[in-house]
Amino acid sequence: MGAREERGAAIALRGVTKRFAGAGGAADGVHALAPVDLEIAEGSFVALVGPSGCGKSTLLRIVAGLEPASAGEVFVRDRDRIAYVFQDAHLLPWRTVAANVALPLELRGAPRAEIDGAVAEALASVELGDVGGRYPAALSGGMRMRASIARALVTKPRLLLMDEPFAALDEITRHRLDERLLALSRAQRFTVLFVTHGIFEATFLAERAIVLSRRPGRIVHDEAVALPAERTAALRGEPAFAREAGKLARALELGAS
Ligand code: ADP
Ligand code: MG
Repeated sequence: MGAREERGAAIALRGVTKRFAGAGGAADGVHALAPVDLEIAEGSFVALVGPSGCGKSTLLRIVAGLEPASAGEVFVRDRDRIAYVFQDAHLLPWRTVAANVALPLELRGAPRAEIDGAVAEALASVELGDVGGRYPAALSGGMRMRASIARALVTKPRLLLMDEPFAALDEITRHRLDERLLALSRAQRFTVLFVTHGIFEATFLAERAIVLSRRPGRIVHDEAVALPAERTAALRGEPAFAREAGKLARALELGAS
């Protein structure tokens, strides 16, 4: 995949499929992903939408190298600089927020002074500078998710994989986090592949939206989101926003039929 590397793709999938073997072997297994061809430019923000069980998490896990593809080629430019954020914040309850955020650097054996500086910076970037000494149980759901994002960003990733990260949060909190995430991705210029059920969330966040069909997931829609690069909260009330969300809703309907 040398040519693609030169063109600046962060991710390139070519003919990627996934079949999970069943109890009786491949014959009664689950065909999770149809052949998927996908190239994602470095520094872009791409949303991946699709019905439950269509293979979104599987695709993310294949990109992360957590799961092998059954067939096809997988290229990921910065394989050692990937961070992953899940719907559950997965914070360790016996560690303070700061100690949770420090964990990826501790596991790498980074020096203490470097860790402390990086943790302070990561917490400040998600506006949690004041609560590093608290325990996760003392935080709201939105704050826990911001701590989870700080833990992902503390390693300075080039590629952020997010699997329905804000799905469990209330709408106002989700909007705030969407806005913060966008600002961070612009400032730090990492690539984001963001899985969501929310067509409005995908429309607000992404410069490009991909819709998968129901299982086995295949791409039924792959288009630039025709909205200004500047995404302010007011955009959610604009006719253009509703129009773009409508495109995704229709693609989802088609992929589900
Ligand atoms: P999504 O994230 O879009 O909801 P997933 O990627 O989690 O969907 O799953 C796609 C399909 O593959 C589902 O039918 C799921 O049950 C199945 N699946 C996922 N992981 C495994 C596994 N480890 N073993 C067997 N089947 C799996
Ligand atoms: Mg999933």
